[in-house]
Amino acid sequence: MNHWPNELKKTSARLALLETFKTLNHPVSVSDLYKAHPEIPIATLYRVIDAFVAHGLIEISDEFQPKEKHYVLKSEHTHHSIKCVVCNKTMILSECPIHLDETIEGYKIIRHRLEIEGICQKCQRTHQT
Ligand SMILES: [Zn+2]
Ligand SMILES: [Zn+2]
Repeated sequence: MNHWPNELKKTSARLALLETFKTLNHPVSVSDLYKAHPEIPIATLYRVIDAFVAHGLIEISDEFQPKEKHYVLKSEHTHHSIKCVVCNKTMILSECPIHLDETIEGYKIIRHRLEIEGICQKCQRTHQT
């Protein structure tokens, strides 16, 4: 899905961080990246994120208006996340849950956003007992 841009040099930090984006199934903040890679200086993390955004590998995820900026891998499809209102965990959905026709009222749809909130399985179990 994401082709490594030719003009972007493959450094070990960049490769490791892109891998983390692929592994974590939720929108990722700089704190998340730092937790996963304490060996990478925070200034480098910010530079890599800027480079990834500039080259279209990732984009800002503005769902749920988090205090800290979160990023997701860019793809042809819009990413949606679902957020647990109890533990605040977010998870990226593999598929878009709504199906928009190509056009609505003559508009060609370019993108849409969703905010989905719920209670995750783990929290449902905790609340039952
Ligand atoms: Zn939860
Ligand atoms: Zn969608």
